[in-house]
Amino acid sequence: MTQRVAIVGGGLTGLAAAWELREEADVSLFEASARLGGKVAMSLVDSLMLDEGADAFLARVPFATQLATELGLSDDLVSPAVRNAYIHAGGALRPIPSPQVLGVPLEPAAIASSGLISERGAARAARDLEGHDAPIERDESIGSLIRRRLGDEVLESLVDPLLSGINAGDVDRLSVAACTPQLYAAARADASLIRGIRAQLASAARDPDAHIFHSLVPGVSRLVEVLAERLGGIVHTGSRIESIDQDPRGGWSVDGERFDAVLLCVPAPVAVGLLRDAPTMFGAIEFSSVAMLTFVVNPSSLTCTLDGSGFLVQRRSGRLLTAASWSSAKWAHVGDERRFVIRASVGRDGDLRHRSMEDAALIKAVLGDLVDTMSTPIDVRDVRVSRYPDALAQYRPGHIDAIASARSELPHSIGVAGASYDGVGIPACIDSGRREARALTEL
Ligand SMILES: Cc1cc2nc3c(=O)[nH]c(=O)nc-3n(C[C@H](O)[C@H](O)[C@H](O)COP(=O)(O)OP(=O)(O)OC[C@H]3O[C@@H](n4cnc5c(N)ncnc54)[C@H](O)[C@@H]3O)c2cc1C
Repeated sequence: MTQRVAIVGGGLTGLAAAWELREEADVSLFEASARLGGKVAMSLVDSLMLDEGADAFLARVPFATQLATELGLSDDLVSPAVRNAYIHAGGALRPIPSPQVLGVPLEPAAIASSGLISERGAARAARDLEGHDAPIERDESIGSLIRRRLGDEVLESLVDPLLSGINAGDVDRLSVAACTPQLYAAARADASLIRGIRAQLASAARDPDAHIFHSLVPGVSRLVEVLAERLGGIVHTGSRIESIDQDPRGGWSVDGERFDAVLLCVPAPVAVGLLRDAPTMFGAIEFSSVAMLTFVVNPSSLTCTLDGSGFLVQRRSGRLLTAASWSSAKWAHVGDERRFVIRASVGRDGDLRHRSMEDAALIKAVLGDLVDTMSTPIDVRDVRVSRYPDALAQYRPGHIDAIASARSELPHSIGVAGASYDGVGIPACIDSGRREARALTEL
């Protein structure tokens, strides 16, 4: 008999889960708001249709690219027009030294000339190649691993800005296994992190010209639009689920309607509110708050270099601005000769200042930071503020094992998927939704 499956949450995780089961189960997807996509959204700024949050996804983790291809969107997949990026340090924008992986320099001798690391810091990083540490055996924080292997300077000046740009976290409290699996695998394989990463790259035989990111035209939200069209009537917007209880006939009663299985694709605090005996670990997951300010500016007002995807700002600067993306330099399809798009990010673990600022004050402060860091006047045509309170899960050391153990406490016909558990990036969310959906129906 066809199983009835309820999917709660219509972000990309829930949509991917529904897509996975569309032909094998009788699926209903319930989304609380009037709009699908959750944290992935697109809206007009100065008449340009622009992504609000996510504007790209990793190409190396294949699940988003694969889904786009399944949906017939391969012709709309695009790669960045530029490869390099900057870090703001010592009053100037400085190119991120290459080659590097997640901020770990693969040629430490070369980084002393970057203006980002002192001679002493570069020499300390080079000691990693002597392999004084043992290969690691268990998860720890990214900070403790990098400080031990390459020193404090590499962590604070290179790794922290790059990773903060991804999940707005504090590297001294983030799990290396859950947040940076590539670094974890390298540290487990070799007493030298640099050597471990070099070996990974050599064995992957990756095309050196392959792009790290993909996006879609006009934006990542295209995935949401097409999934919504293709899923059709199984998707119910404006349907906030309030209760999930055991049904006396077997299975689950979701706001009074009976289902054989339920997949919760909502943030962990929502899942905790819906499940009677939610594992305590789900309630302990912490989140950071961020905001994205999308500025459409007059390109002729800009006097600085724009030959990269943008820049990151070090935590120690104390600035509100954490990163800026020069979207019109990064993506050929964003903006035009009259409209240059800059996306500015604020907020990270331990910095909630933006939350108490009204939009006008936030815009003024962030514009001030942009003018200062880019050393240019900026003539703003239009600006949009998108706020994401408690949005980005902060995986602490031990996260992967704790999630596996918490999942084993759930009844077999209840699953959880999405950014609170299995990775915040879009490919990871898509994989989580599809995998957990399949697991529920394979019982
Ligand atoms: C500012 C920002 C920028 C980002 N940039 C990138 C990027 O460039 N690349 C990348 O890969 N990732 C990026 N991410 C991460 C990525 O966007 C998210 O991790 C991902 O979209 C989360 O998807 P999700 O479906 O798991 O959760 P969500 O998007 O949070 O979806 C959950 C859904 O559940 C719904 N819901 C909640 N409660 C209920 C209920 N009771 N009943 C029914 N529905 C409910 C919500 O309305 C929501 O639609 C970014 C995130 C942010 C915040």
